[in-house]
Amino acid sequence: MADPVCPESGHPMNRGIRPVTLSYKGLSANVEMPGWYCKHCGESIHSGKDMAVSDKALNRLKAEAEGLLLPETVRRIRKRLKLTQKEAGRIIGGGPNAFQKYETGETLVSKAITSALILLDKNPEDLEVLKSRAIDHHAAV
Ligand SMILES: [Zn+2]
Repeated sequence: MADPVCPESGHPMNRGIRPVTLSYKGLSANVEMPGWYCKHCGESIHSGKDMAVSDKALNRLKAEAEGLLLPETVRRIRKRLKLTQKEAGRIIGGGPNAFQKYETGETLVSKAITSALILLDKNPEDLEVLKSRAIDHHAAV
């Protein structure tokens, strides 16, 4: 694909990274935003992959604002529980791909998963309760 042309000024655009500030409920974060930029008028174009960078940063701000777990905290607790991402999605919830998405920051962690993980972090032995239910459920299907 040819390099895009600025929709505003018609100039060729250049690939680059520029700082942008995202805000959510009074919190803000600076993001190094990749994209195509026009040096004549400041217009920019962002691909889906570019947008993933700001989506992740925005999810992080939302997590902080709403008291939800951050990706690295989800990962820490899952590892403490000695679960793979797939096992965590099956036993704790969210489905087989959920923890992979939580831990990359692609998906915002729900309040329910946050609550479950906080409790399991405090009492890791309670995982056995969930594990036995997960097995029962599986056997019943
Ligand atoms: Zn332009």
